[in-house]
Order: sequence, then structure tokens, then C-alpha cells
Amino acid sequence: MRLILLGPPGAGKGTQAQFLVERFGIPQLSTGDMLRAAIAGETPLGLEVKDIIARGDLVPDETVVGIISDRLDQSDCQKGFILDGFPRTTEQARALEVLLADKGIGLDAVVEIKVDADTLVGRILTRAAESGGARADDNEEVLRNRLDVYQELTAPLVDFYSKKDLVKSVDGMAGIDEVTTSIMAALAAS
Ligand code: AMP
Repeated sequence: MRLILLGPPGAGKGTQAQFLVERFGIPQLSTGDMLRAAIAGETPLGLEVKDIIARGDLVPDETVVGIISDRLDQSDCQKGFILDGFPRTTEQARALEVLLADKGIGLDAVVEIKVDADTLVGRILTRAAESGGARADDNEEVLRNRLDVYQELTAPLVDFYSKKDLVKSVDGMAGIDEVTTSIMAALAAS
């Protein structure tokens, strides 16, 4: 199973990815997690992306494409993978097509988790407060930027993948278990 999880920040992609990891025994490839690990490890990559991520902007396409390319070559991706937070631009989606074509593999589905933007802001701010995040007003500003970036650069991917007949849309406003059930149903129908 080779999947992309698509949806704005706070839609629950990470939570649903965890479930799919267990269900299918395939890894979750989260570029956000990989970049945060690089920042925590103070690697050259981490230093390059730290400020960009703090602002809620996107890191350059070639940087994330390089990371994903290396990751897809690892043996645990042979059986499949769940892409979480990648691709985020049409450029990245095109690069992914090339990477997969080179390996002679294709995607099975793109799961779009649909949510209401205002609800998301509340959800994410609650999550940040619970984890003892930075000042709420800082978070809100960055979050609104991330949502704008999503609308402008990532949302067009729904159209991109719809043309390839890969998109399965689920209602992300439902409870976590219900969303999981919808995803499984959508994948079973694919
Ligand atoms: P996430 O955890 O997926 O929300 O990602 C956190 C941040 O990492 C994003 O706001 C971006 O700054 C950066 N990032 C993660 N994935 C990508 C990507 N595919 N392209 C560009 N930037 C990314």
C-alpha cells in the first residue's frame, strides 16, 4: 500500500498515519518529523530549515525531495509507505512521480482529510497549550500562516491527484475512530 495523506495542519494526518502504520505494517514518512529531528540534532539541514519552520513557511522543494528520495530507498519502504506532509507543492508532486517511476512503482491512493479551517485553529492551539507550547499569540500567527500556505500551495494537489483518479476524501471533522473507519472504507473501495 502506497499512500499520501493530504490535509491542512491539524487535520489529524499524523494520528491517522499511526493507525495505518499498525494496520498495514508500513512506515509513516513524515517530512515534518524528519526536519524536526534534524533541528533537534543541530545538523546542517536542521540549521538550514530552523527559521523557515518557525515562521510556518515551506522549506525548499529540493530539500524535502532529497530527504524523501533517500528515505524511499530504505528497505522498510519496499512493502509500501504512508507519506504524511509530503508532497506539499505541485513541484514536489511532480518530483515524487519521477522518483516512483524510476523505481517502477505507483501510488495506490491519496487520502484527503477535509476539515474546517477555524476549527483547526482551535484544535491546534489547544494541542499547543497542552504540550506547553510557546505563547499562544505567536502560535496563532504562525498557524494562520501555515493554513494560508496550505491553501495556496498544497490544496491544489487535490486537483492534481483527482485528475489521476487517486483521491479519496474523508470528513476529518468526525471523531478519530470514525475518520479511521472512513479511511479504511475508502481504501477498501479503491
Ligand atoms: P508538519 O509537521 O508536516 O506540519 O511540518 C512542519 C513544518 O515543516 C512545515 O510547516 C514546513 O515548514 C516544514 N515541512 C514539512 N514538510 C514539508 C514539505 N513537504 N515541504 C516543505 N516544507 C515542509
